[in-house]
Amino acid sequence: MNQLKDLINSAMEKEGIDLIGFAGKDRFASVDAQHNPFSIFPEGKTVIMLGKRICRGALRGVEEGTNFGDYRLFGSNWLEDEFLSLACYNLVRVLENEGWEAVPLFPNPSDVPPMGVSVAEGRPAPNVFPDFTYAAVACGIGEIGMNGLLLTPEYGSRQRFHMIITDAEIEPTPLQEASVCLKCGKCAAACPLGAVDIENAEEIDICGKKMTVAKINYDLCRDCKNGACANRLAKASKPDRIPALCNRTCLCSLEEAGVLGNKFETPFRKRDAWAIGGKVSAEERSSEKNNVLGGAYSVDGNRGAK
Ligand code: SF4
Ligand code: SF4
Repeated sequence: MNQLKDLINSAMEKEGIDLIGFAGKDRFASVDAQHNPFSIFPEGKTVIMLGKRICRGALRGVEEGTNFGDYRLFGSNWLEDEFLSLACYNLVRVLENEGWEAVPLFPNPSDVPPMGVSVAEGRPAPNVFPDFTYAAVACGIGEIGMNGLLLTPEYGSRQRFHMIITDAEIEPTPLQEASVCLKCGKCAAACPLGAVDIENAEEIDICGKKMTVAKINYDLCRDCKNGACANRLAKASKPDRIPALCNRTCLCSLEEAGVLGNKFETPFRKRDAWAIGGKVSAEERSSEKNNVLGGAYSVDGNRGAK
């Protein structure tokens, strides 16, 4: 099986995969059927998580407050829909060539209710959408930080994932031992809306790995205009907070502390961060208007001056 793992690792290196981790079925034993990857492939034995970094440069325009649309492409839509999906599909081909079934899964939001009804008694309703953050921790890739986002030792919160479930048995990646989150509280301090409540932080346990996570008021985040984007796949789901002020500040904090593997010649934050305290209504930021041109920050969704 180590031979197969080597084959996978070398194929994914060629695909430009930055992060990869493996977990056996036992690490999902406590996950409810509605969110369990093995509800999709009951004979599966291993979950593989494939990650690509969100380039730091994709956050530059947001940090300066001058370009939001290109993050949506390079940091979100193209990264998930094109770059990662191609690598995921190609790994499925590698596994199938070796005689193993491999189920590719897109990172659909797992916090939305199922869309269909159960096809038979005892089966969860379609669609089962596994929690990718849980899976990334279970696959030894990272941890959940105080800010509620997945943090990895290489990139902090700058990554996205696809998942594969396979019936090949592959040696699991050890859970990440060292903590990335500094517990510095800068994510909470940076939030102009007070959405990150560290006082009421909770302990989360994934496969025995314990993490302290602040209580996040996602209703406030949905209305935040400091870089957060409405969830492009399900309006009711958690917004994309990776480009938001809270998280860009976290990135600065992690880089300053020198804990991230991906190092740069110059610091990310070059000048005081901009911040907007007021809210913008959900209607103004509807997903229909979240186009790649006007982005979440255009009231009418149009590009350029009128
Ligand atoms: S800003 Fe500090 S406390 Fe918040 S998630 Fe980042 S490292 Fe953790
Ligand atoms: S997304 Fe906005 S409202 Fe939510 S924690 Fe970050 S800065 Fe605060």
